[in-house]
Amino acid sequence: AEPATAPQKLWYDGELVDTGRLQATVHTHALHYGSGVFEGIRAYATKRGAAVFRLPEHLERMRKGAELLGMTFDVAEATEAVLATLRANRQGDAYIRPLAWYGDGSFGLDVAGHPQHLMVATSSTNVHLNGNRTRVSVSSWRRNPASALPPLKLCGAYVNSILAKREVKARGFDEAMFVDDDDFAVECTGANLFVVRDGRVTAVEHRDALPGITRDTLIRLIGAESRPVSMEELLDADEVFACGTAAEVTPIAEIHAGENAGRAYAAQSPVGREIADVYARTVRGDSAWSASWLTEV
Ligand code: PMP
Repeated sequence: AEPATAPQKLWYDGELVDTGRLQATVHTHALHYGSGVFEGIRAYATKRGAAVFRLPEHLERMRKGAELLGMTFDVAEATEAVLATLRANRQGDAYIRPLAWYGDGSFGLDVAGHPQHLMVATSSTNVHLNGNRTRVSVSSWRRNPASALPPLKLCGAYVNSILAKREVKARGFDEAMFVDDDDFAVECTGANLFVVRDGRVTAVEHRDALPGITRDTLIRLIGAESRPVSMEELLDADEVFACGTAAEVTPIAEIHAGENAGRAYAAQSPVGREIADVYARTVRGDSAWSASWLTEV
């Protein structure tokens, strides 16, 4: 069951502590330089109790980011941390935020010798897009190129998403999408893109985009093709949607692509609705794929 109040406990370096008790010092290395890695995971209330969707895949991605930063990261320990936090907060539906970061130390950029920490916080509210039809505008910022920052959930990398989001919000839109120098679609600030045309579903592929776990889930569930998609093709599609752990399957109402360019899409088609439904059934334990993708709390 949902807790009546905000989650009371979070995991910090091996124990459950009261949420309000934890504070970071102003010398925290990650605060200055973004030297951390995080995940965004969801748990769902299912008939068999609360369960986490694709937990091993999320923690494996986090391990890659942690190791890139030179941290030790134990997937088994992080698994226990996530499950213990959910149990302590008695949560069914939850958004789960693990974070590993470098703490107190010098102002130098060499992370060696800085202590590392692991935290898991949960919340019962959604972040990002929330499943409503969303109005998207193309950002003038480029996505962090993979050659400079690999598409993992490194804390500092998200300043790129923050800039894009700020830019399009100022224009009155809900969400930003990134386009590359060759006019190919990349992704949104915290979600991947799909297009539907004549009933055929295509996952937008791009080397600078985060290889999303929701994207992978949908490709497997509906057998979508994955390939690069130009802006021209995107604006010509019957339907476009964004997907991510937090966003789930979010239909896009409109893409604004400059002064006189863009596209308004008709309401979600039967194909789009079926994709959102099959995803919802799967995460809630009601599809053939569910068993292998859910970790019971
Ligand atoms: N792209 C970015 C930049 C993201 O932050 C996210 C959210 N993790 C996604 C895509 C979607 O990834 P996932 O489906 O694994 O949540």
